[in-house]
Amino acid sequence: MLQPASFSHPRANREVLLGHARVAYALQRVRRRSIGFVVDADGLSVRAPSWVTLSAIDEALKEKSGWILRKLGDAQLRQQKREDARIEWKNGAVFPFLGEPLRIVLDAEHRFAGRGGALLDSALPGEPRELHIALPHAADASKVRDAVQAWLLRQARAHFVARLDHFAPQLGVRWTRLRLSSAQTRWGSARSDGSICLNWRLLHFRPSVIDYVVVHELSHLRVMDHSPRFWDTVGSVMPEYKALRRSLKEQATPSWE
Ligand SMILES: [Zn+2]
Repeated sequence: MLQPASFSHPRANREVLLGHARVAYALQRVRRRSIGFVVDADGLSVRAPSWVTLSAIDEALKEKSGWILRKLGDAQLRQQKREDARIEWKNGAVFPFLGEPLRIVLDAEHRFAGRGGALLDSALPGEPRELHIALPHAADASKVRDAVQAWLLRQARAHFVARLDHFAPQLGVRWTRLRLSSAQTRWGSARSDGSICLNWRLLHFRPSVIDYVVVHELSHLRVMDHSPRFWDTVGSVMPEYKALRRSLKEQATPSWE
């Protein structure tokens, strides 16, 4: 059965039916000349002058219902994506690593070789690989997150260096220094002195998507802007870059907050 959509603002004090959707919104009376609508992560809020009647507000909402419902739908989808991407930092939690699920296994006795953590195949066929971390099962979520992050940072550096060294000769450039960043919105940057900055969160993505960012930044060592000549440079070693660029934009990254 198809459920009619419903949207509710946490501070809703009014409700209106727009098409088949029930929309509970926060109405605020303000000193202004016209009715204002805002759709954000909370939902719909309406600011209206005190002299405008409630039925006039409902009329205005109905007139704009196409825009409002589209915005509410978008906001709900974004919220859903964020929820889906949230990692619970505890034994058994799964997060994407190089595009594949990886399960966190807390192992206080440190029955594995290596510093901080170790990547192991699951004993059960078809199950995700496991990241064993030397922490007790009852460890705080923040401790688990920090240990996984430290491990990921080491993996990121090794992975990026290997891929930079793989693509730099193909592009005829030399990179000099690698810095890891964790910016929420930026995947990489390059400077004319050859230093490259890459976001360690890229390690959530599959290797070909990471390669696209590596090639993008290395190509900047030849062409600093995003001119057609730049994209030709990217395409010279990665003909399929457009699809990879698109999937980088569409992918939700797990939240580390
Ligand atoms: Zn760029």
